[in-house]
Amino acid sequence: MNVRQWIAVVGLVVPTVMQAQLKVVTSTTDLFDIASAVGGDKVKASHIGEGFQDPHFIEAKPSFVLQLRNADVWAFVGLELEIGWMPLLLDGARNPKIQLGGSGYVDVSKAMPVIDVPRGSVDRSMGDVHPLGNPHYWLDPENGRRIAKLFLAKFSELDPKNAAEYAANEKAFETKLGAAESAWQAQLATIKGKPVVAWHTSWNYFAEYTGMRIVAYMEPKPGVPPSPSHLLQVVQAVKASGAKVIIMEPFYDRKVADLVARQTGATVLILPPSVGGVPGITSYLQLMQHDVTELSTRVK
Ligand SMILES: [Zn+2]
Repeated sequence: MNVRQWIAVVGLVVPTVMQAQLKVVTSTTDLFDIASAVGGDKVKASHIGEGFQDPHFIEAKPSFVLQLRNADVWAFVGLELEIGWMPLLLDGARNPKIQLGGSGYVDVSKAMPVIDVPRGSVDRSMGDVHPLGNPHYWLDPENGRRIAKLFLAKFSELDPKNAAEYAANEKAFETKLGAAESAWQAQLATIKGKPVVAWHTSWNYFAEYTGMRIVAYMEPKPGVPPSPSHLLQVVQAVKASGAKVIIMEPFYDRKVADLVARQTGATVLILPPSVGGVPGITSYLQLMQHDVTELSTRVK
């Protein structure tokens, strides 16, 4: 190929390449999946945390800084979920677009109705990792829709020429989610009112959605590991309520949950709180479906 031909080819290719997809980085796999659903092939999405990791405690790796350096959008859960690692990464990335005040800085919690907002002041040194309210809002499909709408608004603002496509993708996401919800109504009816134990307060939005009754938490406070005296109270709560299930995320210490199970006859149910939390759960829709279905078979 001579230079002229080469320029001709590059001239044809470059404009296509330059029509770059929006680079979207999310803190969690759940935001990633919904961003991908809304963005389709117009965005290039990636995520920092994995679904099997505790999102409160992600290790800030140098590769994440590189991932954020050229991002157009940084979407995170907020409410201090990422406070342990996000500031380091954003400082390192030196990307004004995704700093506070930048066009691509998306605190998703701003679009959510937040529950468990502490009354009065909460001292983080006491170990409570939810000082601004409960950040695990994605485990309610209504909030899944709010997340999708937020991505639709942001992507359309930054990339208006593809706004119609984003709108169509978002509508398709809502349609699929709505159909799935209709299909699992019987399971929800089974779960409603059933007593359960949860490890962390990550299941509070899910409890509002499903109607399950959380009678005790393995953690004395969000983020504080169970103590022997607290476990005694949990055992009593299980016995008093007849709870059959101890819901636990894949990243907590199963031995401790088993201890309570042995003393009460309840069983431990490992439920993923996020996409990728267990093998085979690769989308938000699958995650919700899996958690509703699994729980409904165990609380009967
Ligand atoms: Zn939490």
